Amino acid sequence: MEFGSGDPEALMRDFLREVGGCAVIDGGLATELEANGADLNDPLWSAKCLISSSHLIRKVHLDYLEAGANIIITSSYQATIQGFESRGFSAEESEALLRKSAEIACEARDIFYKECSEGFENHNKTKKHTVLVAASIGSYGAYLADGSEYSGEYSKEMTLEKLKNFHRRRVEVLAESGADLIAFETIPNKLEAQAYVELLEENNTRTPAWFSFNSKDGVNVVSGDSLIECASIADSCKKVVAIGINCTPPRFIQGLILSIRKVTKKPILIYPNSGERYDAEKKEWVASTGVTDEDFVSYVRVWCEAGACLIGGCCRTTPNTIRGISKVLQNYVPNESEEDRILFVVCLLLRSIWR
Ligand SMILES: [Zn+2]
Repeated sequence: MEFGSGDPEALMRDFLREVGGCAVIDGGLATELEANGADLNDPLWSAKCLISSSHLIRKVHLDYLEAGANIIITSSYQATIQGFESRGFSAEESEALLRKSAEIACEARDIFYKECSEGFENHNKTKKHTVLVAASIGSYGAYLADGSEYSGEYSKEMTLEKLKNFHRRRVEVLAESGADLIAFETIPNKLEAQAYVELLEENNTRTPAWFSFNSKDGVNVVSGDSLIECASIADSCKKVVAIGINCTPPRFIQGLILSIRKVTKKPILIYPNSGERYDAEKKEWVASTGVTDEDFVSYVRVWCEAGACLIGGCCRTTPNTIRGISKVLQNYVPNESEEDRILFVVCLLLRSIWR
């Protein structure tokens, strides 16, 4: 799907127009891989499936597309060249595994489009909708696999240059992988945001990116750095086409959207986790500490009204959550003046008659 004719900002603008103003991002990948039988107890986490069970990744992407996702995020969050090399893969093989994450997502999209045009004989009927593939890049802390993307505390020796060197080749490979955009996810501190901006600018890539931070207090990013400063860094880069928050409890999201809005006019994306607590020592989610799917979905209107226009789920959310979000967004009427509201409803009616 070609949007924006090479202008990064136009890509997101055209895409949002095409999907009716608000887009649905997919939900937790690892959560669903495990639900489908994958064992992710591994420093490579969901990226482990790139080596051994790509069919499961394809299936989970498809489940999210059928649930209504307009954007699917690749399985490369914890996939790094350094991580694969420590498993004995060569640099070339490691890069091929990164590319494979985008290829699987693009394949899932092709299958989805084909199924839509064939009328979903073997599936529940789902309407064809536009789909973008976002290549995930997890933070340096995600590579460490010690939970430090949730603390943002890197060693004192960590510098901007070291972070850029760590991420450089992965960004280059994923930018050329066929994905429509790069999703820098769970960015825990200002230094890493700055490193990504400099890599995008030094790189001649035309692939746009989104920046997504995480917060554990509803005010700052997890390291304690100011969210407003982090979002301003993202806003300063022309190749950044959306800014937001992921893997953060739903109860914090509204306030965080309002903070981001103070420093950017770019579209705001959010894909919270289920609100459950992650025990970094035991490396597991503490069950029953989060919100139900119904509660999660009941926030969606509030998030739209606060200014978010790309909404999905992160850890512990499922195709069910995404189906719920999709339903709300299909019927969402922006909270504008009475005239705008009437005009919007008339447009919706006309659109359904023309179809
Ligand atoms: Zn998450």
